[in-house]
Amino acid sequence: MSNSNVRTCPSDPIPEYAFIGRSNVGKSSLINMLMQKKSLAKTSGRPGKTQLINHFRINDNWFLVDLPGYGYARVSKRDKKTFQKYITDYFKERVQLVCAFVLIDIRHEPQKVDLEFLEWMGENQIPFALIFTKADKLKPQVIQKQADKYINALLDGIWEDAPQYFITSSSNNLGREEVLEFIGGINDE
Ligand code: GDP
Repeated sequence: MSNSNVRTCPSDPIPEYAFIGRSNVGKSSLINMLMQKKSLAKTSGRPGKTQLINHFRINDNWFLVDLPGYGYARVSKRDKKTFQKYITDYFKERVQLVCAFVLIDIRHEPQKVDLEFLEWMGENQIPFALIFTKADKLKPQVIQKQADKYINALLDGIWEDAPQYFITSSSNNLGREEVLEFIGGINDE
């Protein structure tokens, strides 16, 4: 089910887990890897394609929510505003949301747009965890160092505690078990 307004999202009282990140971070690939489906989420050659709140009912226990990517350079100001409004409404109003996974390309240095987004999540007390993507693109000995660097950048900012994080690759299924266990783990509580 796809929506551009939080008020028309499914009313089922089922826990949901949302996935969000900058365009091209590997969100669609990650969702497809987690669900072992070739094209549950559309991999976007074109930035800005997923512009809706997409709910996938995985089973009776949870919804997977694919949110639009943020930080497109080429989106008009007006589109950016509309986008921000329904995403912020979604996070603030969606009582079913258990955790938002914020995706970060593990190769990149902390980017302002991501740090600001995470701060906004913190200020609004939206529960989130980080998912580092594309770990296969780094040498094994650099992967943890790069994740540590990112977490340290957060701790140098407004954060007192490190957020929960996962290191993943859609190319070799790294992190799949951990993320799914985390989702299952919360549901079992
Ligand atoms: P989205 O825009 O965030 O949905 O990103 P996509 O899933 O469409 O991925 C963007 C690009 O990164 C595509 O060319 C993917 O093939 C590539 N990609 C995504 N995940 C991985 C990964 O884990 N490893 C590698 N090597 N490439 C990836």
